[in-house]
Amino acid sequence: MIPLLDLKRQYASLDKEINEALVRVAASGNYVLGPEVKAFEEEFARYVGVKHAVGVGNGTDALRMALKALDVGPGDEVITVPFTFVATAEAIAELGARPVFVDINPKTFNMEPDLVEKAITPRTKGILPVHLYGQVADTDTLGRICEDHGLFMLEDAAQAAGSARNGRKAGSIGTSAIFSFYPTKNLSAIGDGGMITTNDSEMAERLRYLRVHGSARKYEHSELGYNSRLDEIQAAVLRVRLPHLDTWNARRREIASIYNAELAGLVETPFVEPGCEHTYHQYTIIADRRDELSAFLKERGIGSAIHYPLPLHLQPAFAYLGYKPGDFPVSESMAKRVISLPVFPELSDQEVLEVARAIKEFYSR
Ligand SMILES: *Cc1c(COP(=O)(O)O)cnc(C)c1O
Repeated sequence: MIPLLDLKRQYASLDKEINEALVRVAASGNYVLGPEVKAFEEEFARYVGVKHAVGVGNGTDALRMALKALDVGPGDEVITVPFTFVATAEAIAELGARPVFVDINPKTFNMEPDLVEKAITPRTKGILPVHLYGQVADTDTLGRICEDHGLFMLEDAAQAAGSARNGRKAGSIGTSAIFSFYPTKNLSAIGDGGMITTNDSEMAERLRYLRVHGSARKYEHSELGYNSRLDEIQAAVLRVRLPHLDTWNARRREIASIYNAELAGLVETPFVEPGCEHTYHQYTIIADRRDELSAFLKERGIGSAIHYPLPLHLQPAFAYLGYKPGDFPVSESMAKRVISLPVFPELSDQEVLEVARAIKEFYSR
């Protein structure tokens, strides 16, 4: 059995340090917005290369609060992609704004900048590109478009902790960025957690209010906010794990290079853009007879997953936006053809070769 992801192995690799952190917080009596969160925010901001990092309850709340702090509300439009996890567009819609979708690039799976300019209207407030699977979107071109049109860029870096483009880390490129520490992400908590990064000090200050009901001073509320903080326990665990993130991401790249060599010619292996440091949150290939391959791997006890089987513009929850099949052909085609393979850092070379062997066997039948 080779699972898609084995969180027990991740825990076991640093169990003593994590146990120590859990006990330290439990014994401290300081459970909400205490010293662990403050220290982790500073350490994470330094790692990403930004002035401010604000810890919140999860990646979805990070999106909501970042958009709110960027003054997104009813009547506004935010441009994003339909080929992502639902949270990206959900957060826009929840604030009463309209998610405006543009299609992805068929090689990188990321927002296609050429399509963005055509989607801009007088109501457009900003763009929300996703660094899908751990590769940073074309933020060079997107950044120029934002400058030309006075738009914000909010990076959805939930899948891109440690990724970089032309030497700039994901989370330090846009007006602001969000991260998720959900247990399956490259930098993971042992529960929910999220972070918002920005170099804008006013925005950071507003975010620190928004996560405590819009309250700068106790029982005084300048605006309505949320109740969404990064937990002290999660922050303590994340402080143990952050120093290992680069090593883990390097191991993910090593696993990817084994797959690339083994699977060349059989499937379309991931395309890495020049200047991009991919961190393979997912190792996702484009495969013929994808559903048959998925069933074949399952039979062999090998985990895989489809990220994502139904693009957001075709989801019932977004039917009110009025999109129809055929509107985003690249996203629709990829939804039928992609499959993600096991790529977590604790996999052995032997396991990776076994997955590759099964795929070779499938295509030789
Ligand atoms: C995981 C994820 C989120 C949401 O993060 P949560 O912590 O699960 O709320 C948002 N966007 C993308 C692209 C994600 O992968």
